[in-house]
Amino acid sequence: MLPRKTILTIAFVAAAGVAAALAPPNDAKDAKAKPKESKEPKEWTSGIVWPEPRVIDPGSPTVPPSDSVALFDGTSMSKWVGGDAWEVKDGYTISRKTSIKTKDSFGDCQLHIEFATPAEVKGTGQGRGNSGVFMMDRYEIQVLDSFDNKTYFDGQCGAVYKQTPPMVNVCRKPGEWQMYDILWEAPRFNAFGTLDRPAYVTVLHNGVVVQNHTEVFGTTGYDHPPKIERHPGRGPIQLQFHGNPVRFRNIWVRDMAPLVGKKPA
Ligand code: MG
Repeated sequence: MLPRKTILTIAFVAAAGVAAALAPPNDAKDAKAKPKESKEPKEWTSGIVWPEPRVIDPGSPTVPPSDSVALFDGTSMSKWVGGDAWEVKDGYTISRKTSIKTKDSFGDCQLHIEFATPAEVKGTGQGRGNSGVFMMDRYEIQVLDSFDNKTYFDGQCGAVYKQTPPMVNVCRKPGEWQMYDILWEAPRFNAFGTLDRPAYVTVLHNGVVVQNHTEVFGTTGYDHPPKIERHPGRGPIQLQFHGNPVRFRNIWVRDMAPLVGKKPA
């Protein structure tokens, strides 16, 4: 049998061990004394309730986005007033005889269009591979063979005609396929018919930005300064015939509208 003193010592040591095990760790005690600041950033939200963006299929270089409207798919010019005058062959159309315009009208939109100026180089300046994409039937984004072909800068390929030259000249050689991706914001007129907000245009030429939210000052005539004229919120897209056989293919357009969120009360 153990002596009484030894038993007491064992009991004391055991009790101290249990107490130590039950006691909160030093860290926990510190935390209680002074809460540690979280390293996680506190999330900020605007409080705006957004509708969910629609899901669309982006397509591919040869297949348009799923919510686009095909204006020319390589087979028919049925979407165009005057389209019968243009020849269709091998998946493209060639400008002839007359300018043409879409039967449908468009406001703010994204337009994709591919074009090729004639491989056989004829003429100079504005006389070489001239056509044009007229938004709302009156604002021309110039199409021209500007490959080694000097003209006035605000009239070369990628210009808002007679208003703003392209930032750079990214023309491919005559006969090669090129593309425009045009983001168009229509002008806004108030009830009195005066301009509330001008039109703006962004143009990517062969994937390179040449116009970046460029203000459009009015109509783009050859023989007069930009004119502001009231017109409906949507208008046809015109392709110009300027005497040169310019080819076009893969033309599609889609409406462009920002989501509208609900602000908190
Ligand atoms: Mg033109």
